[in-house]
Amino acid sequence: MTSAAPDNTSVDVLIVGAGISGIGAAYYLQREHPQRSYAILEARGASGGTWDLFRYPGIRSDSDLYTFGYEFKPWRDEQAIASADKILAYVRETAAENGIDRKIRFHSKVVSASWSSRDARWTVEVQHAGTGERTTMTCNWLFCAGGYYRYEEGFTPRFEGRERFQGPIIHPQQWPADLDYAGQRVLVIGSGATAVTLVPAMADTAAHVTMLQRTPSYIMALPSEDKLANRLRLLLGEDRAYKITRRKNIIRQQAIWRFCQKYPTAARRIIRNLNAKMLPDGYPVDEHFNPPYNPWDQRLCLVPNGDLFKAIRAGRASVVTDRITTFTEKGVLLESGRELEADIIVTATGLKVQAMGAMSLSADGRPVSLPDTVAYKGMMLSGVPNFAYAAGYTNSSWTLKIGLLCEHFCRLLAYMDARGYDTARPEPADRAMPTRPFLNFGAGYIQRAIDELPRQGDRAPWLTSMSYARDVKLLHRRPVQDPELRFSQSQSNGAQPSLVTETVALWTGSTSPAVRRSSPARLAASASSSPTRSPGEAARWRWSTGTPSGWSASARRREPSAAGR
Ligand SMILES: Cc1cc2nc3c(=O)[nH]c(=O)nc-3n(C[C@H](O)[C@H](O)[C@H](O)COP(=O)(O)OP(=O)(O)OC[C@H]3O[C@@H](n4cnc5c(N)ncnc54)[C@H](O)[C@@H]3O)c2cc1C
Repeated sequence: MTSAAPDNTSVDVLIVGAGISGIGAAYYLQREHPQRSYAILEARGASGGTWDLFRYPGIRSDSDLYTFGYEFKPWRDEQAIASADKILAYVRETAAENGIDRKIRFHSKVVSASWSSRDARWTVEVQHAGTGERTTMTCNWLFCAGGYYRYEEGFTPRFEGRERFQGPIIHPQQWPADLDYAGQRVLVIGSGATAVTLVPAMADTAAHVTMLQRTPSYIMALPSEDKLANRLRLLLGEDRAYKITRRKNIIRQQAIWRFCQKYPTAARRIIRNLNAKMLPDGYPVDEHFNPPYNPWDQRLCLVPNGDLFKAIRAGRASVVTDRITTFTEKGVLLESGRELEADIIVTATGLKVQAMGAMSLSADGRPVSLPDTVAYKGMMLSGVPNFAYAAGYTNSSWTLKIGLLCEHFCRLLAYMDARGYDTARPEPADRAMPTRPFLNFGAGYIQRAIDELPRQGDRAPWLTSMSYARDVKLLHRRPVQDPELRFSQSQSNGAQPSLVTETVALWTGSTSPAVRRSSPARLAASASSSPTRSPGEAARWRWSTGTPSGWSASARRREPSAAGR
C-alpha cells in the first residue's frame, strides 16, 4: 500500500527513533520500497540515540564494529572497538549519504498510537519538545526503533545516607560536561560494561579509581584493533574485506556464546585464567572476577587491550567486592566495616528499561497491554496489526538482528503488496500456548522490567531467538507468510464487507497461500480472539504463564546484578 501524494501528517511507514536501528530501518525501507513514503520521529534534538546520549569518559562499544555496523556500509576505521563519537559519525554519515536525515523530524516524541482496522491505519499522537504541543499523524505501518531504555534517567538504587555525601554523585547517563576529576579520588559503583569502561578511562587522570561491586562480572580482554581485518582491507579493498571480517566475527561471537552455554565450567575456568594472567601476582582473582552465574547468562564485558587490568596493575585502579551499608560524608561504609573514601561517586548502576518507546498502544479502541502480548518472530506482537519493532541481540551485536528483521519486514510489505493486503496481524493458533519471559537474560536491568515486557511462546514463530544462525533461516530464508500471521484488506481499501483473508491454519489447518473470502461472522469470531481486549476480557484471555521446564529454575538461580551496561 502506498500513498499517491505523501503529506506531512500521513505516511505509509512511520519509524519511531533515529538511533542506529531507526536509520537502518529507513535504509532498508527506501531501498526495497522506494515508492513508499516514510518519516522518522525522534524525541530528541539529535540522531544517533545511545551514541549521542552517553557522554561519560571512555564511552565506546563493546562489540566489534564489523558486526555492530550495518551490513550495507563497511566500517572503515582501524579500531574494531570504537568510541561513541566514531559510531555516531558512522550512523550520521549513513543517514546523510542516503537522504535519510531529511526524513527525520526531531523533538517529536510519539506518546500514543491507536490502530483502526476499518482504515488499516495507525493514528499517532506526537508531543513536540519545547512547546509541549500535541499533533497527530497517520500511517499504515508503525515501526518502533525506540531502543530499550528510558532516556530521561538511568537506574540508581536507593542508597542509605546518600544525602550525607559531600561530593558530587553522578549517574553516567547524565554526565556533567564540566566535571573535573583530575587528581580526585573516584568511586565507581557497579561492575557492568559502563563501570569497566569508566574505570580505566578515569584512572588516566584521577588520583585513584575504585570500582565497588556487589557481584563480579565476567570480563574478557580483546584487542581493540582487528589486525586481520586491517590487512584484508589493504589486500581486498573495503567492501570485500568488510564482508569477510563480518562473517568471521559473527561466527566467532556465536561460537564463544555456544561454548559458554554448553561448557559453562570450562568457559569459566578459561576466563578466570586469562584474567589471572593480566592481573598482578597474588591478586585475589576469585574474589573480584569470579561471578556466581555462568558466562553469558549476563552480557560478558569486554575490555579493549585489557585496559582495566592494566590500570589495576599500575595501581591506578582497584576493585572492591562488598555491599554498601550507608553513604557517609566522606564516601561509603561497607558491610565488612571498611570505609571507602572518595571525592566523587559515580553510580554505574544501570538503565531503566522501557519497551516500545513508552508509547501507549491501542487497537480498535482497546488498550494493548504488553505483558498480554506474545512476540511474533521477535518483531511483531500478537493481536497488534501492522506494528513491528526493532529489538536486537543481547548475546552478540544488537544490530545483527535489526538488519535481519528489517529485511524480513520489507519482504512482508512486498508480499502484502503483491496480494493487495493492507493489514497483517499475528495471532497464535493455540490460545493455551504456554508463555515465558521475553528474554532469558539475567542482567539486573532486564530482570527489573521483565513483567512489563511482552512474552514469548514455546514454539515457532512465537520464540524470540538469540541465535543469528537461526534468525538467518527464519527471517532471511523462510517465507514471510505464516499460518499464524493473518492478512486482510480493509474496507477503506476496497474490500467488500466480507473481507479478503488469507487461508490460515487457525481455521483450516492449511498453510496454503490461497486467498479466499471469509464470512463476516467468521471474521468477527476471529477478531474476538485478539488478546488485546477490554481489561475484563483481557484478564480472561490472559496467556497461560506456564514455563517450559528448566527455564524458570535457571532464571531463579541467577541473582540479577545491579550493574547495567
Ligand atoms: C553505553 C552503551 C553501550 C552499548 N554498546 C553496545 C555494543 O557495543 N554492542 C551492542 O550490540 N549493543 C550495545 N549497546 C546497546 C545499544 O543501545 C544498542 O546496541 C543500540 O545502540 C541501540 O540502538 P537503537 O537505535 O535500537 O536504540 P537507541 O540507540 O536507544 O535509539 C533509540 C532512539 O529512539 C528515540 N525514541 C525512543 N522512544 C521514542 C518515542 N516514543 N518517540 C520518538 N523517539 C523515541 C530515542 O530518543 C533514541 O534516539 C550499548 C548500550 C549502551 C547504553
